[in-house]
Amino acid sequence: MSLDLDKRQRAMLREMGVRLWQPLPAMPVSLATPALPVASGVEIAINKIAVDAKFERATARFDESSRPAAVPAAPGSLQSTGLSARPAGIDQMDWSALQSAVAGCRACRLCESRRNTVFGVGPALPAQAAVAPPVDWLIVGEAPGENEDLAGEPFVGQAGKLLDNMLQAMKLQRGEAGVAASPAGAAMSNRVFITNVLKCRPPANRNPEPAEMAQCEPYLKRQIELLQPKVILALGRFAAQSLLQASVPDVQKIPLGKLRGRVHRYLGVPVVVSYHPAYLLRSLPDKAKAWDDLCLAMDQIRS
Ligand code: SF4
Repeated sequence: MSLDLDKRQRAMLREMGVRLWQPLPAMPVSLATPALPVASGVEIAINKIAVDAKFERATARFDESSRPAAVPAAPGSLQSTGLSARPAGIDQMDWSALQSAVAGCRACRLCESRRNTVFGVGPALPAQAAVAPPVDWLIVGEAPGENEDLAGEPFVGQAGKLLDNMLQAMKLQRGEAGVAASPAGAAMSNRVFITNVLKCRPPANRNPEPAEMAQCEPYLKRQIELLQPKVILALGRFAAQSLLQASVPDVQKIPLGKLRGRVHRYLGVPVVVSYHPAYLLRSLPDKAKAWDDLCLAMDQIRS
C-alpha cells in the first residue's frame, strides 16, 4: 500500500486511532545482506490494531476463566460490612505472629479510617523476632491519635513529649534498655514498652467504643503474656477500664481518681493507674498526683 495519502485520509485514520509512521529514508542496501520486505506505515498500524484486538480478546477470556465466581455476602454478615473476624489462636501467637495479626486486623470499623496500626514501641529487636523484648515497664495508653496514626508509633505528639519527660524523670527512656539509678539510689531496670488498648485510631480522636475495646483486647492481653512486665502503668480511663474490668466490679462507673493510689493486678502483674498525659497537659495541678503514681509504680519494680 502506498503512503501517498491525502489530508482527508490522514484525518480519517487519525479519528480511527490509526497512527502513521513515515517510512525511513532509503538506505543503501548492503551487497552482503538481502533486503527484507518492508511494510508500509499503514500496514504496520493496521496489523498492530489486529494484534491488539486479538490480545484483548485473549486476555478477556483468560480473565473470565481464571476469576473465581463471586460469592454474594450474606446480609448482616461480617463480610458484607467489609470487616473480618480476628485471626484464630491469638493466645498462642509468638511476638512476630502477633505483630502481623495486628497489622492485618479488620475486626472493627477503625480499620477503615486508620493509616497505620500502632502495635507499640520498645527495645529494638531483630526483624521477625518470635520472642518479645525483655521489659520491666509496660505503659498502656488509650488509642492512637492523629500523629500516632501517621507515625505508627504510640505517644508521639505533645502528650508523647510529656510522657517522655515523665519517663526521663524516672531515668527511663522509650525504646532503650539499660540500668539506671532510681531516685532512692537503688539500681532499677528501665526497659520500657509503650502501647495502647486500641491499635487503630478512632476517627477525630473520639473515645474508644466498648465494642472496639472488646475486639482489640486479646491483642493487649497477648502482648502482656509475652512481655511479662514487672509493672503496668495504665494511663487514662479507658486503659484502666480495660485492664481492671475482670478485677474491679463496675469499673466503668468508678472515676479514675478513685482507681489511683493502690496496686491492682492483671494476669498477676501489678497495675498502677494514673492520668493520661493528654489530660495532664490541660490540668497542670494533677501532675503532682501523676508523680505520686509513678513513685508507686517504681516501688513495685524495686520490690
Ligand atoms: S482497633 Fe484493634 S480490633 Fe479494631 S481493627 Fe484495629 S487492631 Fe483490629
